[in-house]
Amino acid sequence: MPLPWLESLYQQLAHSFSQQRFHHAQLFNGDKGVGKQHLVDSLADGLLCASPVQLRACGHCKSCQLNQAGTHPDKRIVRVDGQTIGVDEIRDITHFINHSAAQNGNKVVVLEQCHKMTTAAANALLKTLEEPSLNRYLLLTCEQTALLPATILSRCAVHEVKVDSSITTQWLASLSIPNYSWLALFASQPLLVEQWHKEHQLGSVDLLYKFATEIKDSHNFSTLVDILNKDHSLVNVFALFLTEHLKTQLVLGMDFFSYQKAQTALSEFLYNSSHVLGLNMSLAISQLALTLRESQN
Ligand SMILES: [Zn+2]
Repeated sequence: MPLPWLESLYQQLAHSFSQQRFHHAQLFNGDKGVGKQHLVDSLADGLLCASPVQLRACGHCKSCQLNQAGTHPDKRIVRVDGQTIGVDEIRDITHFINHSAAQNGNKVVVLEQCHKMTTAAANALLKTLEEPSLNRYLLLTCEQTALLPATILSRCAVHEVKVDSSITTQWLASLSIPNYSWLALFASQPLLVEQWHKEHQLGSVDLLYKFATEIKDSHNFSTLVDILNKDHSLVNVFALFLTEHLKTQLVLGMDFFSYQKAQTALSEFLYNSSHVLGLNMSLAISQLALTLRESQN
């Protein structure tokens, strides 16, 4: 299923491909949940397909069948689990690119979150970027181009993957997602919202929002602690809600010193959540709530 907000970019890419101006290294930059993975997967399948239409895979040929089975010998995907992409992974890609294609056509490498490359890995990739080979394509994604060396950026065609919030609002509504007041904060991350929907987490996210906006009056944090312990990625979401709430409080007359104090407590909470192994979430939340209450009195 094509995602409507990616259509115009996809058409541009298909056009440049038909004009034989398709760059061998394409870098897609954008927020988590904007659809970069979807985009590079579709492009990879289109590049490998024997009879693509507008760079879209036909879905029937041998290549498409191999892609559907996840066993295409001419496609390599690097999707990081850990904190960094090391030099061995990049050498593996180079090796893969330098060998001839099994299906007498193109070879495609997908390198996701390439801002996680170590310096040695980036240097190794640079060599591959500098010496493009015919029918070899590198599709890269990243969440912040500022984290990439300029030497890498200058050797890629860089695209910003963005959303049109009116399109995504419609799209989310078509998935029967209720119009929560906080949805606007994730306007650029529709697939993240869709993921919460699929995993039945929207109710939990909504609770986080309520806790964040009413933290001053809340007495029992066990539900909040349970939600955050169950899915650690929601700590950032909770922090985002709190940040927004504090900004609103500031506009409504909260004094700046208290605002700063609250922001510092929130930063500490965020830092501890990702750096302290076996953090006592219950205690961390109580401490945070205490500071926030003091600052809002
Ligand atoms: Zn095909």
